[in-house]
Amino acid sequence: MKRNLTTDAGRLRNIGIAAHIDAGKTTLTERILFYAGAIHSCGDVHAGNTTTDFSPIEREKGITISSAAAPCTWTQQPVEGMTRLFANMPHRLNIIDTPGHVDFTAEVERSLRVLDGVIAVFCGVGGVQPQSETVWRQADRYRVPRLAFINKMDRTGADFARVVNELRTRFGANAWPVVLPWGSESTLAGQIDIIDQRSIKADATSAKGYTTEPVPTDWQEAVLYARTDLINALASLDDEIAVLWMEDKAVPAQVLREAVRRQTLAGRFIPVIGGSAYRHIGVQTLVDAVVDFLPAPADVQRTQTIDAPLAALAFKVVRHPQAGRLVYVRVYAGTLEKGTALFNPRLGKSERCGRLLRVFADRRDELESVQAGDICAVSGLRDFSTGDTLCLADHPVMLEPPMFPEPVVSMAIEPMHSTDQSRLSTALSRLSDEDPTFHVRTHEETGQCLIAGMGELHLEVVREKLLREHGVETRAGAPEIACRETITARAEADHVLKKQNGGTGMYARVKLSISPRERGQGMLIENAVTGGAIPSQFLNAVHRGIAEAATAGPLAGSPLVDVHIRVTDGASHVKDSNDQAFRLAAAEALREAVQLATPVLLEPVMRVECAVANEHHGDILGDLHRRRARIVGIEHSNAEATILAEVPLAEMFGYAGAIRSLSRGRATYSMSPAAYEVVPPAVLPRMLAA
Ligand code: GDP
Repeated sequence: MKRNLTTDAGRLRNIGIAAHIDAGKTTLTERILFYAGAIHSCGDVHAGNTTTDFSPIEREKGITISSAAAPCTWTQQPVEGMTRLFANMPHRLNIIDTPGHVDFTAEVERSLRVLDGVIAVFCGVGGVQPQSETVWRQADRYRVPRLAFINKMDRTGADFARVVNELRTRFGANAWPVVLPWGSESTLAGQIDIIDQRSIKADATSAKGYTTEPVPTDWQEAVLYARTDLINALASLDDEIAVLWMEDKAVPAQVLREAVRRQTLAGRFIPVIGGSAYRHIGVQTLVDAVVDFLPAPADVQRTQTIDAPLAALAFKVVRHPQAGRLVYVRVYAGTLEKGTALFNPRLGKSERCGRLLRVFADRRDELESVQAGDICAVSGLRDFSTGDTLCLADHPVMLEPPMFPEPVVSMAIEPMHSTDQSRLSTALSRLSDEDPTFHVRTHEETGQCLIAGMGELHLEVVREKLLREHGVETRAGAPEIACRETITARAEADHVLKKQNGGTGMYARVKLSISPRERGQGMLIENAVTGGAIPSQFLNAVHRGIAEAATAGPLAGSPLVDVHIRVTDGASHVKDSNDQAFRLAAAEALREAVQLATPVLLEPVMRVECAVANEHHGDILGDLHRRRARIVGIEHSNAEATILAEVPLAEMFGYAGAIRSLSRGRATYSMSPAAYEVVPPAVLPRMLAA
């Protein structure tokens, strides 16, 4: 009999906590783990001893670079006068702490791919920051249900209503409060639940840390308005609420809570909660809301069952100080069992499944098996890497892997002490194993080691990791833009390689035609040879020759992209043709064709968003124009302007310093790769000289 996921994985929540840097994500995660009983005291990011940020660099920088998965359990406690949809039913939470910094989009990307719901954290003062928008759009793309936590309501200048409004205007989110902060700044006393119309008073002397009571008289009107707004908003989405609304009937708390759950799961509604993680206000309410409003795996994976054949996705590789290489997987179907042979469809081979672990920062619990819907770490796997599917050889499947952007910045790097050379190589290959947006290669001509990543900060963090975690001090060259090359016209080339003057000869002829493809479509090599003009045993060599020549274009030696290559004809010699001859002839034919096809240089263009005080907005705009920016939009709100622009990365080096001095330190900006675009002719000589 098939068991349905609902019975087994219905009590599970795989959630991420996403936020702009500094919104309080680390503090919040820590508090959640504390109230869930998974840790016994709360760390503090100031003291650098929080649980999820466990690498020394992360502690020092105070930013969560690699997301750690923290499992814990939560049971909604019945509270007098309040409704809870799953009271007394134990739930397990897998919390993936997704970082918010733009240079680490890969982390957010892969986390969102395997999560079922997200807590989006905003600062009650700073509100919706440019970077929150990037993460929000990513979550939209993966259709991840979310709830918003407006944190830091204790800080001077916190304004709950303004941030809710920004969620609506900036994101177009259908966001409505379900739990209000009770007061703000120094008067923040707790929260008020709008659904149940109950106040939750912070009370350090009580066992739970809070007590509940009826809404105080001076808040009753505000709560009534908020509840009416909530019902109105839901009436346009939810049939059950619509019926009550039309008949002008009271909406019971339980019915309202269920409707919020339904519409949040459907992605049409964002419940908003206000509180203060640091002051321990609203953390338990928030976790109750996660259980009430965010989906269980069963809610998003309706068709799959535990008895189906195994399908799991490897979404992260980390090296644990004791457990070694750990591959984090999310099981989508079937059961992952210790010791089974796991098939890797990318490599076409199997590897035995090592230990299954639930890793909690530096503690590990061992499991016998893990069922569909759940997340765990697998030790002892050598070949599986991020994006691979784990399945069974007799039921091969391939799950859609997360998409990672290509690196946009590279630099040459070498060890400060030549004796560290081999340690450096080992460390770099480990780092690129763990981070799919970090690439390492050796320059063909100079033999230099080149590292490439998503921005200057990314590479700087890598160098710090090398030093701190691997004890290798490095020297680096200036950061360079990772350009590409492509063609703008069609062309043909016919190359004959001929060395037949005694002894073993070489002979191969390759004819090919090339044409431009749309941006981002990559290379396509098509074999259109008929009648065995190129004998089939040499076709692989032709392919290899083309691929090799495509690694370096004619203008700057950058990789060639977005070209359709058709191999149309050729010739061979019975004795003198071999793989080597065809490889060289194909490479040369491609080089000749590219020269004739009006090649152009492509540069990475970044999407830049600046939030700046109105008074500095003119200066920032002027500076952006000098940087070849294309201004996409400008939004004004109160005292602030948000500028959205697309700017070539080549013009953005040192921008952090420039924007600081132009705005006297009062502007913030974020930057993420947008596209590759043709370098304008006027700029080309400068780019080529760089
Ligand atoms: P992250 O960068 O999003 O992980 O944010 P952190 O948790 O590191 O918090 C950033 C800063 O905000 C730290 O100094 C925290 O102590 C502080 N912080 C976090 N939550 C609150 C809060 O609720 N109220 C106040 N006043 N400060 C907070």
